[in-house]
Amino acid sequence: LPLVKAPSSPSLSLQAKMSRPVQARRLEGVDKNIWVEFVKLAATYSTVNLGQGFPDFPPPDFLTDAFARVLSGEEHMLHQYTRAFGHPPLVKILAQLFGKLLGRDLDPMTNVMVTVGAYQALFCCFQAFVDEGDEVIIIEPFFDCYEPMVKMAGGTPVFVPLRPKAPKDGKLMSSADWHLDPAELASKFSERTKAIVLNSPNNPLGKVFSRGELELIADLCVKHDALCISDEVYEWLVYDGKEHIRIASLQGMWDRTVIIGSAGKTFSATGWKVGWTVGPNRLLQHLRTMHQNSVYHCATAMQEAVAQGFQRELEHYGKPDSYFVQLSKELQQKRDQLVQSLVAVGMKPIIPEGTYFLVADISEFKSDVPDVPNSDEPYDSRFAKWMVKNKGLAAIPLSAFYCGAHKNNYNRFIRFCFAKEEATLKAADDILQKWKLEKTSP
Ligand code: PMP
Repeated sequence: LPLVKAPSSPSLSLQAKMSRPVQARRLEGVDKNIWVEFVKLAATYSTVNLGQGFPDFPPPDFLTDAFARVLSGEEHMLHQYTRAFGHPPLVKILAQLFGKLLGRDLDPMTNVMVTVGAYQALFCCFQAFVDEGDEVIIIEPFFDCYEPMVKMAGGTPVFVPLRPKAPKDGKLMSSADWHLDPAELASKFSERTKAIVLNSPNNPLGKVFSRGELELIADLCVKHDALCISDEVYEWLVYDGKEHIRIASLQGMWDRTVIIGSAGKTFSATGWKVGWTVGPNRLLQHLRTMHQNSVYHCATAMQEAVAQGFQRELEHYGKPDSYFVQLSKELQQKRDQLVQSLVAVGMKPIIPEGTYFLVADISEFKSDVPDVPNSDEPYDSRFAKWMVKNKGLAAIPLSAFYCGAHKNNYNRFIRFCFAKEEATLKAADDILQKWKLEKTSP
């Protein structure tokens, strides 16, 4: 048989090659992502990875047992679709818990929506609330996805940095020493402001915003009729008896706030990707529109297991054997352990009040990393790359959590994650001790 040749007409070959851009304009300027590069570097070079934020210890048994029961149990409908806006047992228990925390009656069907991790909750918020020309205030340093998400919705991010003030007595800094300047914050609000993103406890600093700071934000939101997207994924991870205050509980804020949470952080199961939003129906109805027209639905079995996890926690609420109580106690010890290791080698950790992250000042290490003249890569980024390649220790540069214009103002810090097994923290300490010896030996 003769071979069938592809038609060689010039018009067809022209059509086969697309010459116009394939990507939508909304992707312009948001194609780079810090995690892709640093996760790859950590996978290639690190012996100890304190970079990306995830626990390397297992979730609590009661959660994994619940998941095993869901998978092997008789309720085969748990393998099928469930309610689009949240599996009923999960929205019911979330409404019960947050109702108790906020001191108001919540309707599971209209005041709670389950999402694919906190990530999708954030995406739904920006898509549902932000129009072309709207401004969204972002407090720096910020969880990096806020900026591209605002831009993809057509909005303009407006950045306001927390200002560090070193304690006078020569003590180590705390995340509480990083403040919002009230006049600077007020100057960012205008009639174009649609929303502010608040992340308390804050990733990467670990700052837990005080009541005074939250009142300042709340007053400005009310004055300018702005929304508050309140990312509270680390709500249970607070230390030294510090209190996590929910901005939605302040005067005038419930009606304009969406609270975002994550089972990934709450139950040390980041891979489960179960998150939620809690708020008034007047806001959540628009999140439901986004959700039903994008992912529609989150994995039923995961939602059921998370619901059972919360059921267990509600029964143990505030008691010493509550997972939330135990986890923060354990993490506080891990935090203190990493602080000691870093101080020993000459880094200056900023003691976090919450989250499982710790930011350390690396100014003393300037001579370790060769200078690259005329490089526009922030110093901390070059340092973090050098450290993983030469010491096997992975961390994330703090400048990754700032907008382009501010990166070089905050380029002498790196972020570590301390939600790690004893053995991992010990291995990090060994690397740091060896490094210290190399630095001090002639
Ligand atoms: N917000 C913040 C502040 C985070 O740190 C993270 C995860 N690193 C998320 C949201 C996303 O959470 P999830 O894994 O539940 O999507």
